[in-house]
Amino acid sequence: DGGLYLQYQPILDLRTNRVCGFEALARLKSEKLGAVPPLEFIPIAEKTKLIIPLGWKITRQSQCFLSKLKSLGYEEIYVSINASVIQLLKNDFVDNLLEMIREMQINPKSICIEITESVFAAGYDDINIIMNRLRKYGISIAIDDFGTGYSSLSRARDLSIDCLKIDKSFIDKLTNVCPDCAITGEIVSIAHKLGYYTVAEGVEYEEQKQVLLEYGCDKIQGYLVAKPLDEEAAIRLLETK
Ligand code: C2E
Ligand code: MG
Ligand code: MG
Repeated sequence: DGGLYLQYQPILDLRTNRVCGFEALARLKSEKLGAVPPLEFIPIAEKTKLIIPLGWKITRQSQCFLSKLKSLGYEEIYVSINASVIQLLKNDFVDNLLEMIREMQINPKSICIEITESVFAAGYDDINIIMNRLRKYGISIAIDDFGTGYSSLSRARDLSIDCLKIDKSFIDKLTNVCPDCAITGEIVSIAHKLGYYTVAEGVEYEEQKQVLLEYGCDKIQGYLVAKPLDEEAAIRLLETK
C-alpha cells in the first residue's frame, strides 16, 4: 500500500458561497498498474479485509490534513471521510477513532464520516448504535450516494445522521429535458424536515447550482467547484474561495 494517498474535493456552502469542507478520496498508484481507481481497489480491499488497516491509514492522513488546516488558521473547515461497513462494524472502531482524534488534537466537530446506504442491508440497529456514539462526541454522519440504494426517505427518518449526500444521478436530471420531473427538490425538503442538511454530489454546471439554490440545498460538491485536489492545491484553493 506504499502508493496510497489522498485527494481532497472541496464542498461549497451555498449560503456563503465559500468552501466549508473537503471530502477525502483515496488514490492508489502502483508501479505495475499505474493509477488504480477507488471503485476498483476499495471493493477488493473490502473482500480481503485489507480495508481495515487501509481505512486507518486514510483516517490518519485525513487528520494530518485537518491539523495542517488548523495550523493555517482554517479551524472551521471540515473533512469528510468515507468508511466501509466492515470498518464501522469492527468493535474497536469508535474507540480507535476517538483515540486518534485526541492524540492528533483534532476537533471532533471537524470530522464527518460518510457511509453508503448499503450499510443498512447489514442491519439497521447495530449501525445506528455506532452512529449514535460517534454523534455524541460531535462527529457528523453523512449518508453517501443517497437515493441509489436501500434507505428510502421513509427509512431515513429512523437514522441517527446529520446529512444526506444526494447522489449525482439526481443532480444530472436537473439539466435534462424535464428538470421539474426530478424529485431532487423533494429530497431536499424532506431531508430538512427530518433535520438533516443536504450536499448535492457531482454538480458540474452553473445551471444545476442555480436550481439547487432555489431548492434550498445546503452544500454542493462537484467539478463545477473543483475536481479532487492534492493537499497543496486544496490549501491554495482555500486562499481564493
Ligand atoms: P463517493 O464517496 O460518492 O465520491 C464521489 C466520487 O464522485 C469521487 O470519485 C469523485 O471524484 C467523483 N466526482 C466528484 N465530483 C464529480 C463531478 O462533478 N462529476 C463526476 N462525473 N464525478 C465527480 P472517486 O474518487 O473515483 O471515488 C469513487 C468512490 O470510491 C467514492 O464515491 C467512494 O465510495 C469510494 N471511495 C473513495 N475513497 C474512499 C475511501 O477512502 N474509503 C472508502 N471506503 N471508499 C472510498
Ligand atoms: Mg463519499
Ligand atoms: Mg458519493
